[in-house]
Amino acid sequence: MQCGKQIRSMEKEYCYDCMHTHHYYEQGLSLWNHKAPVNQSIYQFKYHNQRRYGELYSQELVKNFQKEIRRWNPDVIIPVPLHRARRRKRGYNQAQILAENLGKMLCIPVDSKSLARRKKTSPQKKLGHNERKKNLKNAFAVTSAFRPVRKVLLVDDIYTTGNTLDAAAKALKEKGVEKVYFLTISIGQGY
Ligand SMILES: [Zn+2]
Repeated sequence: MQCGKQIRSMEKEYCYDCMHTHHYYEQGLSLWNHKAPVNQSIYQFKYHNQRRYGELYSQELVKNFQKEIRRWNPDVIIPVPLHRARRRKRGYNQAQILAENLGKMLCIPVDSKSLARRKKTSPQKKLGHNERKKNLKNAFAVTSAFRPVRKVLLVDDIYTTGNTLDAAAKALKEKGVEKVYFLTISIGQGY
């Protein structure tokens, strides 16, 4: 009901993580579980310049979640930013490609300027749970380009622990945003 992960028990509404964590976002949805072949597809999208995949992902997101997106009724779509240095190295931000496709399909404005990654964070994979959180805390800053809005839809490629989306949502809420939702292509499995 919150992170959107599939859970094994039919009776439960929240996964273990959502029952034990305070999320800064309200709710989010992901297309697929993060396993083969989806993980390989996203890897190509992210690191091997397969930007065109962004269109397919966006089409699927709209096809599957149009109703929910309309219910959330976001004022703006904001892609989760990469740090400037990382973006320069990679040449593009995969989340921005998704956001732009979604914005076009849904006729919702996209804002890629208001949220910035404040410092270079070390790759999350190498860190433990608490270190991950610390690593990401205050990782995002709202820039001077930000204009007040009530509801934001964040877009990213993968939902793993949710720490990234929470940190981004936290930064936005500190600036007065009331509701933050998210869409990602894939998500880890929950229990
Ligand atoms: Zn959950």
